[in-house]
Amino acid sequence: MPIRIHGFSTEIQNSRIRYQALVDGVPLWIELDESITPRSAGNFFVGAVLLHAMYEGQEIHLDESLPVSTDYLSSIAALQSIYCQWNGKLKQVSIIACEKEDIVLNNDSASFFSGGIDGSYTLACKPEINFVLCLNSFEGREQPDAWLNLIRRQRDFLANQGKTLLHIASNYRQLTEAWGVSHQFQHGIALGSIATFLGFKNTYIPSSFTSDYLFPWGSHPLTDVLWSGNDFRIVHHGIDVSRVDKTRKLADNPELLNNIQVCWKYVDRNCGECHKCIRTMTALKFFSMHSVALPELKDIAHIADFKVTSVAAVPFVEELAYLAEERGYEAVARKLRHRVRRFWIKHHADELLKLLVGDLLGPVVRRMRRNTWSTYKVHVTNQQK
Ligand SMILES: [Zn+2]
Repeated sequence: MPIRIHGFSTEIQNSRIRYQALVDGVPLWIELDESITPRSAGNFFVGAVLLHAMYEGQEIHLDESLPVSTDYLSSIAALQSIYCQWNGKLKQVSIIACEKEDIVLNNDSASFFSGGIDGSYTLACKPEINFVLCLNSFEGREQPDAWLNLIRRQRDFLANQGKTLLHIASNYRQLTEAWGVSHQFQHGIALGSIATFLGFKNTYIPSSFTSDYLFPWGSHPLTDVLWSGNDFRIVHHGIDVSRVDKTRKLADNPELLNNIQVCWKYVDRNCGECHKCIRTMTALKFFSMHSVALPELKDIAHIADFKVTSVAAVPFVEELAYLAEERGYEAVARKLRHRVRRFWIKHHADELLKLLVGDLLGPVVRRMRRNTWSTYKVHVTNQQK
């Protein structure tokens, strides 16, 4: 049975336009400022269901009212090949839709942004970016009121910088998580699909990782660029600069530095206590920089308490260890490296156990560790369980 995307409709309210369709009867929508004229809406809807369809091995059928851009359909074939290599459980699926030769209508540059170091660094490097895309499916999902506070504040801030904030809201993450799709995987497809839907001449996706630390991940330099079309391009930006060096670069742009929003706990302010706040405060301290968005780090020894909980966290802790050593805090650097070593020992012990006994013990171990991501069935790779 194919997955059907049907019942397309649009609705305008308070200068916002909502594009909605039904995925096998379940509403899926995306909402934008009315002033933006996007390309074919089918681009967004295909991206939202793609991984679910690939896992289930089902074709995606779109009603005639939902065409898909021709260049998008050719990109998505190449992207599917890579996703299948990353995760052997995924299958190439056909997309049955009316094709449309879309042209680029927004001859501007845009970048995804939520106030963090990576996004701020991209804005600092690329002054030609005049539209800033804020998507609610990351920080905005669990604290919607605080997210709207952040949007209001960032809109004013960016207007002073001569940029226009575009607030993009969608319920795609509720659906993809209900289908068991990991957001670590889905987020890159969401960004690529939304970029091809909006159709800016250039769209920047700020990178999280550097070129020496790459692994299959939703937003990836190999795949992000493949979302580009005939007359527009998607750029994976900042892969050559570490997170701490991006922080240092913001010293040249005090407005962006004072605007950073990095917290894991709060959406519209920084708590100054969570690991991500402390990590950022530590880098600022080492560089003798100050941001009004964060309190000053009182005790550098706090950072030695970091827990490394995933492969994705390793490079950021290693960067800080290197920086600590460079600045003469050898004891802190040793402790951080010890944390990384302990993480790898546990990680490889888990892998060894799986090699020896298969995944028989996996469900028990995952339940004991209460890993929320273990409830997903579609991960970036087969190994990530
Ligand atoms: Zn925090």
